[in-house]
Parts: sequence; C-alpha cells; structure tokens
Amino acid sequence: CGIVGIVGQQPVSERLVGALKRLEYRGYDSAGVATITGGTLQRRRAEGKLVNLETRLKAEPLNGSIGIGHTRWATHGAPTEGNAHPHFTDGVAVVHNGIIENFAELKEELTAAGAEFQTDTDTEVVAHLVARHRQEGMGRGEAMHAMLKRIKGAYALAILFEDDPSSIIAARNGPPLAIGHGDGEMFLASDAIALAPFTNEVTYLIDGDWAVIGKGRADIFDFDGYPVERPRQTSMAAA
Ligand code: GLU
Repeated sequence: CGIVGIVGQQPVSERLVGALKRLEYRGYDSAGVATITGGTLQRRRAEGKLVNLETRLKAEPLNGSIGIGHTRWATHGAPTEGNAHPHFTDGVAVVHNGIIENFAELKEELTAAGAEFQTDTDTEVVAHLVARHRQEGMGRGEAMHAMLKRIKGAYALAILFEDDPSSIIAARNGPPLAIGHGDGEMFLASDAIALAPFTNEVTYLIDGDWAVIGKGRADIFDFDGYPVERPRQTSMAAA
C-alpha cells in the first residue's frame, strides 16, 4: 500500500503511476489516481495490478497537472474497483493508507446527518467529514484540522480539493510520508524511493503532522494546528 502526490507544471497521471510502481514492494490489491482537470476532479481506478490501471489510463487518459495516487491493501471492504481509492465526496478526493478505528461510529453519525456512503471502506468517513466541514463554511486547512480531531487510528492521507487546483493536503499518524521538493514542482510519497526520479530533496512528516503542499512550498502544521519546521534532507534513494 502506498500514497503518491504531485503538484506539477505538466500532466501528472503517468508520473503518478510510475511513482506507485516504485512502491509495489509494499504490496497492494488495487490502485487508483485522481487529478483536477478543467476545474473538475477526475479519477481512474482498477482492481489488481498497476498494469490494469495503466490499461485503463491508456483507454481513458487523464489530464491535469495536480494529482494523487494510491495502492490499496484492503482492510475494510473487498478489493473491488468500487472500494478502490481515491474516494470522492462533494469536491473532496481522499487517498488513505492505514485504518480509521472509529469509522463505524463516524459513519453512523454522518449517515444520520444525511451523508450517502458509496463504499464499504473505513476511509470514506474522512471524505465525508471534510466535505461536511467545508459545507459548514470552513476553509480547506480548517476543515482538515477539524477532521483530524475526529478520526482515531493509523493513517497517511492525501486530499485534493476541487476548488483548489494548486495544492494537496497531507497528514500522517503512523505510516510514513515524505514531501519532495522539485524544480518548480512538489511531490508526496509513502517512501522517498518513489520520489527519486523527481528529487532527492525530502522533508519527512512526523506523527501528528499535516501539511499544505503547494506550488514550490510546503507549510507544515502540528496536530494542534501550529506551524512547525521539519528538516529538509537529501535522500540516498537511487532513481
Ligand atoms: N483501510 C483502508 C481501506 O481498506 C486503506 C487500506 C490501505 O492501507 O491501503 O480501504
């Protein structure tokens, strides 16, 4: 299972799949990518090997110069295309590695409030929580922070907002996440190995961190929402 993201200047879908391939060693049963193109969130997903996702992308190419990608190791919900990430809810796209331990109670609460769930995953509560906070009038960062206060468990998350084609918001509590600093482009991955073809300059998030990764910069916050500095390092991973 793995997560990748690119805030790019050129179309990203091929590079997202290339980066996911470099995370293959982590194991997976399905995969997907999402981008924003023409102001709209779009996705392609497939069961099984990454070659199936590539075939899908050849038949139905995905434009867009910002995107997120995921390889899934199903924990809640069968490894079907329908349960594959990214999950879409009201302009919010989410990829997640790990387990949201309190998803059942959150799902019950959200369903009672009118949310309609489309998957059997634990992850989908993240998309609904963030979407609901946006509808309540919160900004993207505020909605992210409020969502993180509600979920319990282990997660690496990357979120795309349809109304912001220039940044990805990520969070870490457990599974690793590295931000990559490229030449006018920014990257995100579960392992710096996935980023080696693009950059060796990385910043690792630590547990409790979340970050807004925008064009040429990453703003990192702790669990309480305070800005924090994390060191920029040179990764030894070979391209
Ligand atoms: N728990 C999530 C799911 O089953 C994420 C699994 C993963 O880490 O890939 O969809």
